[in-house]
Amino acid sequence: MRLTVIGTGYVGLVSGTCFAEMGNEVTCIDIDQKKIEGLKKGIIPIYEPGLEPMVLRNVKNGTLHFSTDLSKHIKNCDIAFIAVGTPMGEDGSADLQYVLKVAEQIGQSMDATLIVVDKSTVPVGTADKVRTTIQKELDKRKLNIEFDVVSNPEFLKEGDAINDFMKPDRVVVGADNPEATKKMRQLYAPFFRSSMDRLITMDVRSAEMTKYVANAMLATKISFMNEVANICELVGADVNKVRIGIGSDSRIGYSFIYPGSGYGGSCFPKDVKALKKTATEHGYIPQLIGAVEDVNDRQKLVVAKKIAQRFNEDLKGKTFAIWGLAFKPQTDDMREAPAIYIIKYLVERGAKIQAYDPKAMNEAKEFYLKDLDNISYHDSKYDTLNGAEAMVLLTEWKEFRSPDFNEIKKRLNKAIIFDGRNQYNDTILEELGIEYHQIGKTTKN
Ligand code: NAD
Repeated sequence: MRLTVIGTGYVGLVSGTCFAEMGNEVTCIDIDQKKIEGLKKGIIPIYEPGLEPMVLRNVKNGTLHFSTDLSKHIKNCDIAFIAVGTPMGEDGSADLQYVLKVAEQIGQSMDATLIVVDKSTVPVGTADKVRTTIQKELDKRKLNIEFDVVSNPEFLKEGDAINDFMKPDRVVVGADNPEATKKMRQLYAPFFRSSMDRLITMDVRSAEMTKYVANAMLATKISFMNEVANICELVGADVNKVRIGIGSDSRIGYSFIYPGSGYGGSCFPKDVKALKKTATEHGYIPQLIGAVEDVNDRQKLVVAKKIAQRFNEDLKGKTFAIWGLAFKPQTDDMREAPAIYIIKYLVERGAKIQAYDPKAMNEAKEFYLKDLDNISYHDSKYDTLNGAEAMVLLTEWKEFRSPDFNEIKKRLNKAIIFDGRNQYNDTILEELGIEYHQIGKTTKN
């Protein structure tokens, strides 16, 4: 099939590349000229395992193209995917300006039957708005062209996006026209060679809702466990043991019940907020979803407050080594990363930061922490430790899982670790003489 993917970010670039990998003829469009020029030269704008070789291979094969010219490519395709950002608006709702702008551009340029797919995460009712916007432009051009608007929300995880796209747990397709559903089924068939059961079809509104509910459910599990962790500390229980105790119940399961520094990233915070907003707009007060967000906001600062408390609320002139900046491992994405909030809290109280992250340091320097003076970036995790009062682990990268603890002890001023992701065994650290602070268990000093 001939596909146009509009918006070449995490979702657009991964989807477009994976569709090309399956033999489709794909053009990825973006308004960011620099990004498109870079991609044409083989420069991949994001870090995502496995993406670079797949892009290069498909460009070489002639199945994947990049362009800034939406109007040219929309004329020559079977399906157009809208994969632009839907950031958090000022009032918490999803900002649809980019999605509707693309819809307008599609209506201004299309000249034949087309399936338009909302792949961006958009609130219930957006497909109707996209349809109306396109129709309005067609009416202005006095054209009578049939088109469908389909909802096909994306469930990929940054850091494992290629795997998720190539071997999806499920693909949700919401369409009102059986012909459009048939075409989408055909497009996704190569991704489900053993069984098509995992292609779930439904009406458009339910599909739009499914994406928000999936993210809100996952965020709920995280906030629930973080709240449990905070109670565990108060009552002298160990959340790591409680986690295993409850996860062994197959009705609960082990996934997404790890306590930590709260969820971040480009999706959970904004999607939880947008679902809350949708509910209130319809006159419903979403108590649980609101609490999920409140617990997360508080959780982001739990590690920072532990540090301040350990140093008697006097952080002036003290240096801390930060291991990990990205909101999760295997990505350079720092959007809403807990590290931003923790580092700012420490710096505002006079602390100095020596940071290392395997992939996200450029993002930190150029965008998220660019206004901070008291922060330096280092080429290795061990270099951050020199002259620091403590090491603070904020992202669970594999290279942090089994470090040389003697080297950590040797380099730090004091042998103290604050772990925002509960990566280490406290008994082992205790035997090594390292003071170990984690989430959901009190530290024996
Ligand atoms: P992103 O910010 O990485 O990329 C969006 C891209 O769209 C940018 O490159 C931007 O320049 C481009 N763009 C904006 N307006 C445009 C226009 N008029 N024409 C062409 N290009 C335009 O965003 P993302 O992380 O890929 O997310 C896209 C959507 O997918 C969002 O709704 C998001 O919630 C959803 N989503 C994201 C993830 C994820 O893990 N990142 C997962 C599932 C769903």
